Amino acid sequence: METQLRRILIFDTTLRDGEQSPGATMTAREKLLVARQLERLGVDVIEAGFPVASEGEFVSVREIARKIREVQVAAIARAKHEDIDRAWEALKEAADPRLHVFISTSDIHLRYQLGKSRHEVLRQTADAVLHACAYTSNVEFSATDATRTDREFLRRVLEEAIKAGARTVNIADTVGYAVPDELGGLVAYLATSVSGMDRAVLSVHCHDDLGLAVANSLAAVRRGAGQVKCTLNGIGERAGNAALEEVVMALEVRKEFFKCRTNVHTEQIRESSRLLTEVTGIPVQPNKAIVGANAFAHESGIHQDGLIKKRITYEIIEPRSVGEAGTRMVLGKHSGRRALGEHLKKMGRRLTRSEMDRFFPVFKEWADRRKVVSDADLEALLACLPASLNFI
Ligand code: MN
Repeated sequence: METQLRRILIFDTTLRDGEQSPGATMTAREKLLVARQLERLGVDVIEAGFPVASEGEFVSVREIARKIREVQVAAIARAKHEDIDRAWEALKEAADPRLHVFISTSDIHLRYQLGKSRHEVLRQTADAVLHACAYTSNVEFSATDATRTDREFLRRVLEEAIKAGARTVNIADTVGYAVPDELGGLVAYLATSVSGMDRAVLSVHCHDDLGLAVANSLAAVRRGAGQVKCTLNGIGERAGNAALEEVVMALEVRKEFFKCRTNVHTEQIRESSRLLTEVTGIPVQPNKAIVGANAFAHESGIHQDGLIKKRITYEIIEPRSVGEAGTRMVLGKHSGRRALGEHLKKMGRRLTRSEMDRFFPVFKEWADRRKVVSDADLEALLACLPASLNFI
């Protein structure tokens, strides 16, 4: 079974696109800390930044390139010689450097942003990729706003990039406009119609403006993409990028459906998410998949009862597989006798059936007025009611 799984490359752009989220700016030291954790996490490529953007950015990309030895380090550059030269200057000491060159391909961007014709974009693509390939054979080309680009033109741009030497060609849903079936269809079209596609990896870069970044990425994988770009906690421009933890765990949990695998050490996911939150100060919403505080917490009595009987009744992910300590039972007004009893047992308080008969309504009345019931609340409730309950 394992041998039939197609390997999907995880290209992490937390330190580039992720850092472009408002408020996510990191110092060189912080970026290196995150890069080291990404190396432990086992991503295939760490995109360290955009060296031409500032002197500080250049220094931090160079620092990451020097220190990270186990995985590829990438730097992004516009399809211009001076950007590519600067990116290479920052990257050249890396153990396995990747130059990442991009240009917009949609008519909207050509007309309003670049002021270039399609012909000029084709020429610039070939020229920039050739220039990058003079430094390294590990060159990735990205078509920006690819999902709003004429298909036929996009195919020609990718062909041009591959012919010039790009080993990876990426299509970016830069503005988060695509929907899953459509992006899957585009990937299938490119995978079968781009000449030279057998010599390059097809990659996708999705944004979450419609909340579809992960779904789009997975649809692309289904139809032939071999690399997914993502970020920890899904940070990134505007609504963010595809969340690494969600893409990786979807492929892991639904392995038999996707018939794919990644090299990510999933038990490092929680620590990676936590470190990024600490460094950026950007919190994760509690109900966020995989890494949210409530991702493995249960309050409903029916669910708690099921989980106590057998975990797989209501949990599809073993918490320890993503570095979580375990399932967390939260006591609240939706909780049942069984969860309350188990919880009290853990606190060292064993109640007989008749004690529970009397204590349970007291607990419920209290829980009705609270968000959650803490251990301290329970101790206080037990202590306040010695006359009506024969504890100890
Ligand atoms: Mn982006």
